[in-house]
Amino acid sequence: MRSEMSKPEELVFGTTLSDHMLMIEWSKEKNWMDPRIIPRQDLNISPAASSLHYGIQCFEGMKAYRSIADDSIRLFRPDMNMKRLSSSMDRLQMPGFDFNHSQLIDCIENLVLLDQKWIPEGEGYSLYLRPTVIATHKFLGLAAPDSLLLFCITSPVGPYYKSGFAPIRLTTDTPYVRAWPGGTGAAKVGGNYASTMKPQAEAAAKGYSQVLWLFGDDESITEVGSMNVFFFLINKETSRPELVTAPLDRGDILPGVTRDSILQLTRSWGEFDVSERFPTMPEIAQAAKEGRLIEAFGAGTAAVVTPISCIEYQGNDIEIPATGKLTQRIWDEITGIQYGKIEGPEGWSIPIGDHQ
Ligand SMILES: *Cc1c(COP(=O)(O)O)cnc(C)c1O
Repeated sequence: MRSEMSKPEELVFGTTLSDHMLMIEWSKEKNWMDPRIIPRQDLNISPAASSLHYGIQCFEGMKAYRSIADDSIRLFRPDMNMKRLSSSMDRLQMPGFDFNHSQLIDCIENLVLLDQKWIPEGEGYSLYLRPTVIATHKFLGLAAPDSLLLFCITSPVGPYYKSGFAPIRLTTDTPYVRAWPGGTGAAKVGGNYASTMKPQAEAAAKGYSQVLWLFGDDESITEVGSMNVFFFLINKETSRPELVTAPLDRGDILPGVTRDSILQLTRSWGEFDVSERFPTMPEIAQAAKEGRLIEAFGAGTAAVVTPISCIEYQGNDIEIPATGKLTQRIWDEITGIQYGKIEGPEGWSIPIGDHQ
């Protein structure tokens, strides 16, 4: 069952899987069953399982890092991922856990420890962790599932950027919408991503790397691809520098761990305004025209931050200076904390075995 271990520098994201997996089953009669760690293997589920037909599934994305400073193995804010998994499950009418989040982190840590030889060494390298919950309910009708499987697989990954940042070019000119108030945009559920395949392919055909998702008549900017998005600009009203990202209260924004970390860090610096409000495309277009748009970047676990160099809007390309200074500083700070080189806020970079 043991997989080929490829050379770290040859890793392609998400293609190599480690040797073991975590399995926790739930059924209506037996509730949550004992967690098991088993050799990684294909699943044996009914072709009628409702996850396959109605998308009753959700997942998480997190990483285990080998510290540069002391060789300890660390997780980054895993409590946030467990909280988000719970709320994604709740949005799908899946049952809550009868164990606490810390026990689930313990299980994931045991899996990481067992497969620790799969965590590549060096900055930028990590073991990507993919906790997933699927409905295994064997029933072709649409109903709240009577059985679930929570599993976690892990995958060694290399640096997202092999030689410096690679800025992305975006388009807003698409008839599609990623999420909407009252929908599932705030939950990490598979259905959110299936519906982006076609818009993504159409953007690529026009020469853009990803879609910048807008919503509503005011063209508020929500997310980019499957990342949260930030704009650093000089605010027209205050004439002060401001870092802006969409707020969570409308329910159409995925509450990213990276997003939250960037907000906390930049607020702690106290050097510029930090706002959770919806930027709009007319606002960004005007800021760019008046030379007030300083930087824009996407944020998520896979890449940490990704600079944006261009946005297509109403048929025109808005070029963004992409000085990259703030993007770089946030990158240095967050990766420094993840790899144990910089002391971060309490509870952010947790050596395995140390969480409460
Ligand atoms: C996972 C995800 C993010 C980023 O979340 P992180 O916790 O920072 O990795 C942002 N937007 C969407 C739509 C996502 O699926």
